[in-house]
Amino acid sequence: MNSKAYDVIIVGAGVVGCMIARFLSRYKLDILLIDKEADLCMGTTASNTAIIHAGYDPVPGSLKAAMNVRGNRMWDTLAAELGIPFERRGDYVVAVGKEELPSLDALYDKGMQNGVPGMLLISGDELRRREPGINPEVSGALWASTGGIADPFAAAVAPAENAVRNGVEVMLETEFQGFLMDGSRVVGIQSSRGELRSRWVVNSAGIYSDAVMHKAGIRPEFKITPRRGEYYVFDRADIAINNVLFPVPTKVSKGILVTTTVHGNTIIGPNAQNIDDKEDRSVTREGLNEVWQGARKLLPQLELKHAIAVFAGLRPAGNAPCATAGVDCKNDYIIEIPDSVSGLVNLGGIESPGLVSAPAIAERVVELLQDAGERLVEKHDWDPIRSPRPRFRELPKEEQKILVHNDPSYGRIVCRCESVTEGEILAEIRAPIPARTYDALKRRTWLGTGRCQGGFDIPRVVEILSRELGLSPLEMSKKGVGSRFLTRPTKEVEADHAEADV
Ligand SMILES: Cc1cc2nc3c(=O)[nH]c(=O)nc-3n(C[C@H](O)[C@H](O)[C@H](O)COP(=O)(O)OP(=O)(O)OC[C@H]3O[C@@H](n4cnc5c(N)ncnc54)[C@H](O)[C@@H]3O)c2cc1C
Repeated sequence: MNSKAYDVIIVGAGVVGCMIARFLSRYKLDILLIDKEADLCMGTTASNTAIIHAGYDPVPGSLKAAMNVRGNRMWDTLAAELGIPFERRGDYVVAVGKEELPSLDALYDKGMQNGVPGMLLISGDELRRREPGINPEVSGALWASTGGIADPFAAAVAPAENAVRNGVEVMLETEFQGFLMDGSRVVGIQSSRGELRSRWVVNSAGIYSDAVMHKAGIRPEFKITPRRGEYYVFDRADIAINNVLFPVPTKVSKGILVTTTVHGNTIIGPNAQNIDDKEDRSVTREGLNEVWQGARKLLPQLELKHAIAVFAGLRPAGNAPCATAGVDCKNDYIIEIPDSVSGLVNLGGIESPGLVSAPAIAERVVELLQDAGERLVEKHDWDPIRSPRPRFRELPKEEQKILVHNDPSYGRIVCRCESVTEGEILAEIRAPIPARTYDALKRRTWLGTGRCQGGFDIPRVVEILSRELGLSPLEMSKKGVGSRFLTRPTKEVEADHAEADV
């Protein structure tokens, strides 16, 4: 048992938990951020469309709408302070055929009610001029100038690193198993590392937030249904679109879109399929077909031969009624300190637009604690800045030369497709929250995401990780438990074969 008593334990280190850790790190509090996985950001935050939505989609009056619009406004400052790749390039909702035009008016009205600035309805001709590859049947579009794109991995790693810089502790491979209670008051958690005491516990466990709140006897009727969304990723050498193109939304999702990313790759997806298994992030032939048909409705000239990867993410779709009385919506966010249990900040159903909303949710958690009587005293030395580490590929030639001159490891390219250097890998292994797996490095440096999908770099990365961590190469893994790359030295395999031959 860890004998230290924390002020706050945050369960779940996705974008929401990491943002909460960063916002709370401003105050004189002992904070612990835990996650069951080997790295931050291995849940829903790792597999989404990475769009900073403008806020015209959620039901007006819902908590989801309020968090979306407030969160969107926070992103410029946030990204600048934390060094998160973010581009406010606007987005389009595209109507194909006259019958889809009324949906644009409805979205525009919702956006106005939600307080979204900078929206404009444009004609089909205007969109054909702005995006020449668009379906010629386009009849009009809603342009939202405040839409953006961001790096979802940095959106979790950067605030978590900034939180650590300001005194927050992080414990990975630490699973929440239950609450420690004193009557109706939460006084800590039971974890896979034993008991951990604290005055407050924040439930930011994403797709498992229903299970966590049920352990405290809260909202037994609340249920999260995993809703799978599948994607194709295209090689940026072959396809470059400059815009974020949504179709008109369906009843359950924003539809299958075509978007560029901050890394320059085009992605298409996601579809929306309810499933039972909260761990099943596999892709299916039918699902990918649906994605392909959906994307071609927007951009008919797309060619599948340029796809280099597929992936799937699981939306944590909740069933909480609207947080605002009298507003009709069936899956609002839960952000509350429940009346029946004290010491618990309870979140749930943080599905899309959870990425854009995360800073607003963190701000709301601070307000809830203050409203509950917690005296939050600011640290005089709180530092809001986290500087990004250099990305060799993005630097001008002159700066690359200086970097290599000062540290020759930046002159050794490990991932050829994405030009990721050994220097960048070492910097991430030595970072405030060290990358200890291949995927942790991939999320931070973008290595292994190009055309060869890691074919060249994996052996070299395994070697570097094992050398730096002082562990056997056999212990190096893709993403933690159950994903080691190597089983035994080659010589042992040869010896086995020799024995078998005798
Ligand atoms: C297909 C898809 C597309 C999306 N597109 C967008 C988009 O374009 N824009 C947008 O704003 N949002 C989008 N979203 C939504 C967004 O990704 C999520 O709302 C957001 O990532 C949720 O973050 P989170 O921190 O709540 O959850 P998560 O990232 O899932 O983090 C929860 C963490 O809790 C940990 N955890 C769970 N149980 C335990 C336990 N018992 N003990 C310890 N740790 C535990 C998990 O390991 C995980 O790391 C999309 C989602 C999907 C699936």
